[in-house]
Amino acid sequence: MKRIGDVIKEFPIRPPTEATRGEIVVAPRDEVKCPICQDAGYLRNDVPTGHRLFGQVTICVCRERELQDANAESLRKLSNLDVLSHLNFETFDMSVPGVEDAYASALDYAQNPSQRWFFLFGPVGVGKTHLAAAIANYTMSSQKVSTYFDEVPDLLDHLRATFDPNLGTGYDERFQLIRDVGLLVLDDLGTENATPWAREKLYQIINHRYVEQLPTVITSNVDQKKVDDRIMSRIRDHRLTHYVEIDADDYRRPGDPRKMRRSGRRT
Ligand SMILES: [Zn+2]
Repeated sequence: MKRIGDVIKEFPIRPPTEATRGEIVVAPRDEVKCPICQDAGYLRNDVPTGHRLFGQVTICVCRERELQDANAESLRKLSNLDVLSHLNFETFDMSVPGVEDAYASALDYAQNPSQRWFFLFGPVGVGKTHLAAAIANYTMSSQKVSTYFDEVPDLLDHLRATFDPNLGTGYDERFQLIRDVGLLVLDDLGTENATPWAREKLYQIINHRYVEQLPTVITSNVDQKKVDDRIMSRIRDHRLTHYVEIDADDYRRPGDPRKMRRSGRRT
């Protein structure tokens, strides 16, 4: 194995900047992809002994780009949004009665989620999951916000599992990741059949995000009396939460064919 000092000596010298003022010794070759670093990914600084940058390496722009792409990839994996990428604002079914305001509010929130919560309440089948996923897809792709989307029952399963191959993390790391993620979307709050342990974990996540005012989207279709009081009291804080309710009466008008067509847990 080579010593680190010898490895560094093999890196090309960084082109001179005001800080380093050195000599360019990089000779571009046809077969290399990056003429700056000769594909080494790093550049050593051409500075005299004793200079604060002596012996240090600088990351090359080509490697920096690679790392950014890798970050975007792990962000995408984390999000759970792969299978929901088609649920965006463009594909939302605006013909469902009573959804216009919810759509406008969701789009508004997606464009500026900082320090706010978005709570979407309404019956099954009006597109709550679609709007929540649209917000998540928007913040992740347009605003590069780290985003995590999960149905509450699945989230609790994921927390219970000792290791999540999707995230490549153990419990503590995963709990923190979800608790602190840039935007957390919790779909179907209240449908979980939670053990006291899971209820406590869910409360800890929600309370942490409440205290830190971290952007959070929550959807629910159940009687709010069924939801943990401690959680509901935080959701009801109107200083924090933009509360949107899709009117069930609008949607459930007699003879609406959409009622017959829609099924499944994702709403
Ligand atoms: Zn390079």
